[in-house]
Amino acid sequence: MSDKKFKHRARKRFGQNFLTDPTILEKIIKAIAPDSVDKIIEIGPGQGALTELILGSDVELHAIEIDRDLAAYLREKNADKTNFHLHENDVLKVDFNSLLSDTQPARIIGNLPYNISTPLIFHLLKYLPGIKDMLFMLQLEVVERMAALPNSKSYGRLSIMVQYFCRVEKLFNVPPSAFSPAPKVESAIVKLTPHDLAPDELATPDDLTNLLRQAFAHRRKTLRNNLSSLISADELESLNINPGLRPENLSLDDYVRICKHLQ
Ligand code: SAM
Repeated sequence: MSDKKFKHRARKRFGQNFLTDPTILEKIIKAIAPDSVDKIIEIGPGQGALTELILGSDVELHAIEIDRDLAAYLREKNADKTNFHLHENDVLKVDFNSLLSDTQPARIIGNLPYNISTPLIFHLLKYLPGIKDMLFMLQLEVVERMAALPNSKSYGRLSIMVQYFCRVEKLFNVPPSAFSPAPKVESAIVKLTPHDLAPDELATPDDLTNLLRQAFAHRRKTLRNNLSSLISADELESLNINPGLRPENLSLDDYVRICKHLQ
């Protein structure tokens, strides 16, 4: 299969919007700054826009692609590259333990399919000891939710979970014109770096997930109402938390304090 003959029709169900703007591609590669000692896992390599640039720096690259035609194309195109490993699979079904090791934490990157980006981030949070950092292209609105601070509309479960585990840095915006076909929404690049130590270590972070699900079940209701099955108003007050507040008014530390109280 020669490069010139490969014509792929973008598949909507796989969230395929391919990066075509060379300036943006260069900016992303600069932000990743691949080093020959790195092990990089790329999610959704597509037609290889980022892949080719990364392979140029001699890193060990594992790419996970669900689309059979794109996987076949990339496999053939890079057949002579010993540092390229293609995994034809649904990334949500990948057991990252088979790719990661605590001794050489990997870097995860990708222009992510927007339809699975939130479940994918939650999936990856389970594997953090083996991850050095993550750099993703996401819908701008999702990046804003990840980086949001209390008392804002974007602040919620995603902000608190991601900030509990990682430092969140929004790097730059990417316009729809950088892709083919152009998506309907604005995008942005975000870097997530796992904390050496979580803000205040919890016995099991799963409890935080459950607490947040309950706390944010009804954004307009007070904590007294949303959390009534888990903790009383008196107990909240004893933790220095006003039960009359709404879920978006509490900081990450407040939620960790409630979680520890319940464990
Ligand atoms: N990296 C390429 C680029 O920047 O041009 C393609 C990005 S495109 C937004 C998303 C890619 O993820 C597509 O190649 C798509 O086939 C792939 N993809 C979608 N769902 C996937 C899944 N569940 N597992 C693995 N890859 C997936």
